[in-house]
Amino acid sequence: MSAYKVSGGKMDQHFLIHEPTIEQIVLEADLERDDVVLEIGGGLGNLSEKIAPLVKKLYIVEKDEKLAKIMEERLLKEREEGDLSDIFSGLGFKNVEIIKGDVTKIDLSEIPFNKIVANLPYSISSEITVEILKHKFDVAILMYQYEFAKRLAAEPNGKDYGRISVLTQYKADPEILFKVPSEYFSPAPKVDSAVIKIKPKEKSEVFLESEEYFFEVTKAIFGQRRKKVKNSIAHNKMILNISDIKNLFGGLCPEVYEEYKISKMIEKRAENLDIEDIAILSNYLYKLKNV
Ligand code: SAH
Repeated sequence: MSAYKVSGGKMDQHFLIHEPTIEQIVLEADLERDDVVLEIGGGLGNLSEKIAPLVKKLYIVEKDEKLAKIMEERLLKEREEGDLSDIFSGLGFKNVEIIKGDVTKIDLSEIPFNKIVANLPYSISSEITVEILKHKFDVAILMYQYEFAKRLAAEPNGKDYGRISVLTQYKADPEILFKVPSEYFSPAPKVDSAVIKIKPKEKSEVFLESEEYFFEVTKAIFGQRRKKVKNSIAHNKMILNISDIKNLFGGLCPEVYEEYKISKMIEKRAENLDIEDIAILSNYLYKLKNV
């Protein structure tokens, strides 16, 4: 890193420098010749350099202009014949494209990736996870802060289970692969990290009347996680477009209300509802909100 005169630390810049971990991440992505990979936050290109030789195309999004320039030198520039020493002489990859910009402002649907591999900038973990799940891909191998990784993969009835668990797991199966200690990065972050595998579900296990509304209900009920679900819904009735909450929970459409045990659900806290419960609740509210 000193060779590049980069200190890191700002803008979530913690470069992964532990070779075996870099190799393990690449291995987990099970890369094949015809894969098109998206890397978010390429940094100095430590991961990129291992991915590029294995795939058809690698798109790297990097916000920091200085780092993007370094990667251009390192990955794109062709090496002079006989020159094996200078790190700036480059590897000359023809299949790498560096996109300079903020990944949260880029339209990812314009990038035809089928896999994502990244040591993510942690401050956008939540936003980028929700965003990538809107797209179709085969698998994502992502480094997150360990605490966040636990939340993605959490099951109901625990403190880690929340909105991001629901939004992730209704679309995909997240699996924590391994923890990564902070000293494997330079500069070392203050937190531990973990690599997660996110595999989108082929078919969603729950039926939703409206995905958008499900997002809103999820937000509402996890917004105040200590409250009973019925109170959170009442509190957010404007956003949820509900005019008459009493009537709604009093059993408009009593068959559905009883069959799906909605009366029991609304007495619980959000962390005690699984994804199917939340889908049922959301569909019920969606159908009856304007009655
Ligand atoms: N993949 C590299 C770097 C990881 S650090 C490695 O493992 O060594 C995270 C990287 O994300 C940094 O290079 C940082 O500049 C970049 N970054 C931070 N916020 C970003 C954003 N919003 N969009 C794109 N890149 C971002």
